[in-house]
Amino acid sequence: MITVGIESTAHTFGVGIVEDEEVVINQKSMYRPEKGGIHPGKASEHHYANAVNTLKNALNSSNVDKEEIDSIAFSQGPGIPQCLQIGGVTARSLSEALNIPLVGVNHCVSHIEIGKKETGVRDPVTLYVAGGNSQVIGAAGGRYRVFGETLDIAIGNAIDKVARKIGIPHPGGPELEKLAEKGEKFIELPYVVKGMDFSYSGLVTKVQRLLEKHNKEDICYSFQEHAFAMLVEATERAMAHTGKKEVLITGGVAANKRLNQMMETMAEERGATSAKSPLKYCMDNGAMIAYTGQKMLENGLKTDLKESGIRPGWRTEQVNIPWL
Ligand code: AMP
Ligand code: MG
Repeated sequence: MITVGIESTAHTFGVGIVEDEEVVINQKSMYRPEKGGIHPGKASEHHYANAVNTLKNALNSSNVDKEEIDSIAFSQGPGIPQCLQIGGVTARSLSEALNIPLVGVNHCVSHIEIGKKETGVRDPVTLYVAGGNSQVIGAAGGRYRVFGETLDIAIGNAIDKVARKIGIPHPGGPELEKLAEKGEKFIELPYVVKGMDFSYSGLVTKVQRLLEKHNKEDICYSFQEHAFAMLVEATERAMAHTGKKEVLITGGVAANKRLNQMMETMAEERGATSAKSPLKYCMDNGAMIAYTGQKMLENGLKTDLKESGIRPGWRTEQVNIPWL
């Protein structure tokens, strides 16, 4: 079976093609804000302008004829409504024109599924850390349950806000990580874990203020240490509660070496393992949507046209996963 997957939840318009659960092609076009964070209208304009070409290029470079496509998968949510609309319209049009099944995929679930496939972990506690999401997730009772999550802004968003104050353009994570590596002095900052949940807005405000008093390297170092320790603490508690022995880290922030190092230390101390999803699948992409969509179709799940509207607030635990 050949499935085309379309991703458009935020900054990326991605097209992936999967044949019999193997990725054939994974291409994308990314919106990069000139200044500030993601502007929903501008991001959707980018997707509108690049959807057709990205799709055409993916089909051309994979040598897949449109007659060979068996199904269309798309990111139905969660995400920025204006952005989701472009992927939704593209997918619905293709499905209708080619008269093939359509399946709406939950973006967070697809990050977990492709990460499991690529790393070989079977039943992980997943830390999904991105610009718009920060969740600690584990399978229980046929669904991916959210055990812990941010109470306000996502970790990626927190990092980008601090980076912006320093003058680093969006997305600020990679450069902030480099500054942090040069930091030497540990500055005590707010550390907010409430049960299984965590919070970043107080930490960000404090860090932004302290930038006037301390050098940016020490601030970035201390900020990362606090912010990531909160994530590792919540992940460890989820492992303790569920008895799971594997961690999977995914989402854009999973690129961070220090976060992975801290997670590995925690896992080692518990006799568990920590795996990182390959970078190309930590970033938003169409292949994970095609892959998860294909699994859904193989399990008898598809999305009728009338139910194919976007779901901007679609939560991970609302999705029934028959193969769990
Ligand atoms: P996503 O929403 O999954 O596309 O992830 C984007 C987020 O990942 C942005 O907030 C980036 O700043 C962040 N990010 C990317 N690379 C790194 C890194 N090396 N360290 C920390 N955050 C990162
Ligand atoms: Mg994502």
